[in-house]
Amino acid sequence: MYDLIIIGAGPAGMTAAIYAKRANLNVVLIEKGAPGGQMVNTWEIENYTGLKKQSGADISMAMFDHVMSLGVQYEYGNVLKVEQEGNVKKVITEDKTYETKSIIVASGMLPRRLGLEHEDMLASNGVSWCAICDGPIYKGEDVVVVGGGNSAVEEASYLATLCKHVTVVQNLKELTADKKAQDILRKQKNVTIHLESVVTEFIIDEKDKLKAVKIKSDQGDENVIETKAVFEYIGAIPVTDFLKETGVLNAYGFIDTNEKMETKVEGIYAAGDVRTKQIRQVVTATSDGAIAVQNCLKYLETWE
Ligand SMILES: Cc1cc2nc3c(=O)[nH]c(=O)nc-3n(C[C@H](O)[C@H](O)[C@H](O)COP(=O)(O)OP(=O)(O)OC[C@H]3O[C@@H](n4cnc5c(N)ncnc54)[C@H](O)[C@@H]3O)c2cc1C
Repeated sequence: MYDLIIIGAGPAGMTAAIYAKRANLNVVLIEKGAPGGQMVNTWEIENYTGLKKQSGADISMAMFDHVMSLGVQYEYGNVLKVEQEGNVKKVITEDKTYETKSIIVASGMLPRRLGLEHEDMLASNGVSWCAICDGPIYKGEDVVVVGGGNSAVEEASYLATLCKHVTVVQNLKELTADKKAQDILRKQKNVTIHLESVVTEFIIDEKDKLKAVKIKSDQGDENVIETKAVFEYIGAIPVTDFLKETGVLNAYGFIDTNEKMETKVEGIYAAGDVRTKQIRQVVTATSDGAIAVQNCLKYLETWE
């Protein structure tokens, strides 16, 4: 039986693996794709301390090398289910069942996409799901934010401090962010809000760069808005289907933890984007991974 199984080899899971191995735990790190998680498909990351500007793929490989250099057991596997029998937890993949004393869930989340043509090609190069990450690239430019909830409105306010002009496009009759966030946004002089409107098209130039979006209102009016970037804030999809029977998920499918990364279920911890949290970044994911292991160690001392 393992002391600890870590599900997901993004920055949270890989950091947890490093801390767990160095603490001499019998640990396995299970990943269904390539190590690195969301970083693998991120063109450049410039805000991870000490690394300056690097491709997400390079940072992923550097972290993975670090994990492997310590001799962590790494296995390819798609976790389908987690079960509990007394104090023993079972992690079930397509072809194997693992038994473990504890689990760290680090399976991340996926940003919801508009699903329009060219979106994949423009990902991280005109279309973004992270204003903290990509906002500075568009300093002094015109940008569009899609959505009207708290994330959209707060990030639009942040972008308004960097960019020349921010256009917010919201499909509903009103913004749904809390009043305080809306008040801050409406005070910005360089923000235009289009309600009851949706983005219907990404318009690209001859070099395949984003040059504008087409929006359509509920009344049928169409507008073309020139922009260098579109920030999509239309929801997040937690990657937690496999945890449905464990009791750790909240109503939105995310995992609530305390500051020790403990979930509602003893011996199950969560780290990184899969948690209910304010800032989803590489640096906060790695911190969560470290904290989860340190508290897991205390749980294992009393496990029987
Ligand atoms: C477009 C984009 C750009 C970004 N740019 C930046 C940036 O510049 N700077 C920054 O700090 N942050 C950036 N971020 C955010 C950052 O990438 C995330 O906060 C971070 O990757 C979260 O790490 P994580 O380990 O929690 O989850 P993830 O990175 O999502 O990793 C989760 C891993 O779990 C695996 N997994 C999921 N389910 C299972 C399963 N059932 N079985 C096995 N494995 C599973 C997944 O395959 C994945 O590898 C960006 C995010 C996006 C989407």
